[in-house]
Amino acid sequence: MDCIFCKIIKGEIPSHKIYGDEHTFAFLDINPISNGHTLVIPKHHHENLLTASEEDTALVAKTVKKIANAVKKTFNADGVNILQANGTAAGQSVFHYHVHVVPRMENDGLHLWPPTKRIGHEAAQMAKAINKNL
Ligand code: 5GP
Ligand code: ZN
Repeated sequence: MDCIFCKIIKGEIPSHKIYGDEHTFAFLDINPISNGHTLVIPKHHHENLLTASEEDTALVAKTVKKIANAVKKTFNADGVNILQANGTAAGQSVFHYHVHVVPRMENDGLHLWPPTKRIGHEAAQMAKAINKNL
């Protein structure tokens, strides 16, 4: 399979590795939006969170927590955003499940959260409809 992140795991493409265990791998994003911007991925190939196994989802979450604390400490960050895109409409560009760990500083000028736009909605109806699809 022609997957850039599978190649990074195998060492066929170089990366700046931060951490690896039996199931997960963490490395610096090639095009960082802040110092310490790290990607955490499962070693198994899954397209994104929606199709990843429950086991890999949990294992990635565990590594994300570990990395978030490490980058916060390393860069003396004021906060950390955890971001993750599923599908092109959501901004996903590499189709191997990955989680962004982004250290944040007060007034760093990044507009990741809070959002710039809110919508109105019929909350009770919406909650029921989503619940039906669980
Ligand atoms: P997405 O937009 O899919 O959520 O994020 C993909 C991320 O992967 C981007 O932030 C991009 O900079 C990073 N990326 C793409 N190709 C490579 C690569 O070859 N090496 C590394 N380290 N990061 C990559
Ligand atoms: Zn892959």
